[in-house]
Amino acid sequence: MYRINGNIAKILTNIITIVNFRLHLLELSVTINKDSYERGKMSRIVIDENKCKACYLCIKECPKNLIQISSKTNSLGNHVVEFNDPEGKCLGCAMCAKRCPDMAITEVYRG
Ligand code: SF4
Ligand code: SF4
Repeated sequence: MYRINGNIAKILTNIITIVNFRLHLLELSVTINKDSYERGKMSRIVIDENKCKACYLCIKECPKNLIQISSKTNSLGNHVVEFNDPEGKCLGCAMCAKRCPDMAITEVYRG
């Protein structure tokens, strides 16, 4: 059996609380935007370029490869990402938005 030192246990508890709070905020943000249904229209996302830190996690997350690195830079000098879906393949799954650590994908419309 392992015995966890009291201070380490406190630190771990604080970390878990912070992570849970952040996940809650993310979920709240995405849930609100998931309500933005556009029946009969193509699914799509909206990216706030000025929040994008260019980590490119959303690119790896998208099952349809619809997010790409843009040639544009934002006010932070980052090469932001852009949504490119000429064939209407977006599922509106919000996986990109949930993965974004900076909440830069602000809206997910599911058609
Ligand atoms: S996950 Fe968010 S911050 Fe990272 S590249 Fe995508 S939109 Fe930008
Ligand atoms: S909502 Fe889903 S399918 Fe559409 S861009 Fe995001 S991850 Fe890709």
